[in-house]
Amino acid sequence: MIETFDLDEWRKKKQYSAAGVILLMVAIVYWFVYERGEIKYVFSHTMYVPIVLSAIFFGARGGILIGILGGLVLGPLMPMDTITGEMQNTVNWVYRTAFFSLIGFIVGFASDTTVFYIKKIKWLAHHDKPTGLPNSLLMEKIIQTLPDLPEDSDESHYLIGLGIANAVEIRMNFGSNAIDQILSALVGIIRNELPDNLLICRIHYNSLGIIQPKTNKIDMKRLTQNLEKILKKPFAFDDLHLHCDMYFGCVALKRVIDEPGTYIEKISNTVSEAIQKKQHKIIFIGRENNGWVRENIQLLGELKHAIEAGELTMHYQPKVITQTGHICGVEALMRWHHPTLGNIPPDRFIPRTEDSTLVDQLTYFAIDQALRQQAKWEKNGISGMCVSVNISVNNFKYHDFTDTVLQLLDHHGVNGKYLELEITETLLMEEIERNIEKLFTLSDAGIILSIDDFGTGYSSLQYLAKLPISFIKIDQAFILNLPADTKSKHIVQTTINMAHDLGKEVVAEGVETKAAYDYLKNTDCDIVQGYYASPPVTAGEFENLYRQCNGQLLNGARGTSQRIQ
Ligand code: C2E
Ligand code: CA
Ligand code: CA
Repeated sequence: MIETFDLDEWRKKKQYSAAGVILLMVAIVYWFVYERGEIKYVFSHTMYVPIVLSAIFFGARGGILIGILGGLVLGPLMPMDTITGEMQNTVNWVYRTAFFSLIGFIVGFASDTTVFYIKKIKWLAHHDKPTGLPNSLLMEKIIQTLPDLPEDSDESHYLIGLGIANAVEIRMNFGSNAIDQILSALVGIIRNELPDNLLICRIHYNSLGIIQPKTNKIDMKRLTQNLEKILKKPFAFDDLHLHCDMYFGCVALKRVIDEPGTYIEKISNTVSEAIQKKQHKIIFIGRENNGWVRENIQLLGELKHAIEAGELTMHYQPKVITQTGHICGVEALMRWHHPTLGNIPPDRFIPRTEDSTLVDQLTYFAIDQALRQQAKWEKNGISGMCVSVNISVNNFKYHDFTDTVLQLLDHHGVNGKYLELEITETLLMEEIERNIEKLFTLSDAGIILSIDDFGTGYSSLQYLAKLPISFIKIDQAFILNLPADTKSKHIVQTTINMAHDLGKEVVAEGVETKAAYDYLKNTDCDIVQGYYASPPVTAGEFENLYRQCNGQLLNGARGTSQRIQ
């Protein structure tokens, strides 16, 4: 199953027919020389043909064997003169036999060496040298051989990606062969403790790809549970026991529809996501999402064009001061109107973009549009509107991101205090040390910074106090069920108290009902955002809305709140 083309097999197959041809040739040469009647003439040299052929197909041993056979056939079995029956001098035929064998050996040796190196090159092309495991190229070939399974079958093929999260740290401190040794040790354990029909490959320097063909969900669950246990063990490197943070991502599929390479890309992405979220991840590719990889990659490819073609626009959702009901700003949310696929929600294209180099252009577009709009509103009498734009922590990876933002402010003539940048909690905390300086540069320019989706990750209180963050946006998951859900109420109340103690303000997003709004007003939440006030709308619609209510979208009076429209 592993090798689709086995050179040894091929040679063996050919050897059967070659052997017959070679022996027949020896016989023909014997007959030919005998018929010519004289061994002393040049005709005996024809014997080199079967000798060389044998050396090519059977190597040095085959060359020597046919050399000896040819020598004997043209030696004691062949008279010097067929008419008189005079025999050859022994020394003649012995010398000729030795010479035939020598030629057979030389050609055979060359043939063996060529075969050895071809095999070696082929092996290197399909394997990882340090661990001896099949590489991603071979894994692609193996994936291609997976048989189709019926859609309603209980069984699926599973592709598992397994990555070392702290590989860079380990490599920097112990060298890259530490990673090789850890992965080799891990493979040993997996082979001992997990089913032996697993095919294990090395797909990146820090990750393995595992194929579990045709398995039901129960067996697969057992397998992932065992895998989790294995990954918690320390791994030996020289005399040390190293701790590795390892995560796996798993993709289930019934049929191989896309290019096999896209499945490897998918498991690599799943591993990256698992590492990022510090949680093992399992994805099922079912009937309904066949072709998803292609679609995603295609979408990403079209996005660049979409920016230029004006298919992307920004919608704006008002943010309202809880106590007064006044609009204090808007969140700019991206919309993609695709010419054939219709409206594509940001959740479908933005997370993928954030992992790619396109994130830069996308954020540039969002900030540029938002600031242009802010300046326009300012000119049209809707003044002091703060626009918030969602940014990705990957934006900070480009050294000139902060400069670009400052240049855009300058270009549109907007004061920094009217631009807010929202960054999600999980991503911010992960790369915090590296980005602190940049956050301060932005905040020194007056830009407002806020933590988005608060409560979905793990914020360090120490950082929360230290960072130039002005707003904490509680994730909608805690707001949508207010005030009925007691757990959400506790979380919201605690977050508000903590944020106020740290001198920060709180925004509740996903406020859909009057009851939720009233609850938030009574718990001193500073700002609300959600369908109750308004869904995201176009810039023009926002302008109308603003003018209709004269900037006061909700009635802020305690206990008597209502929408003013
Ligand atoms: P987010 O930053 O958490 O944005 C809030 C999302 O909640 C928006 O979804 C908004 O339409 C939705 N929402 C607002 N009020 C309510 C409500 O009362 N109930 C419910 N159920 N939902 C509400 P949207 O526009 O689909 O955006 C989804 C996500 O896409 C955003 O989540 C944000 O992470 C991302 N996104 C949108 N635009 C951009 C952008 O320009 N740049 C980046 N990097 N990300 C963006
Ligand atoms: Ca947001
Ligand atoms: Ca949010």
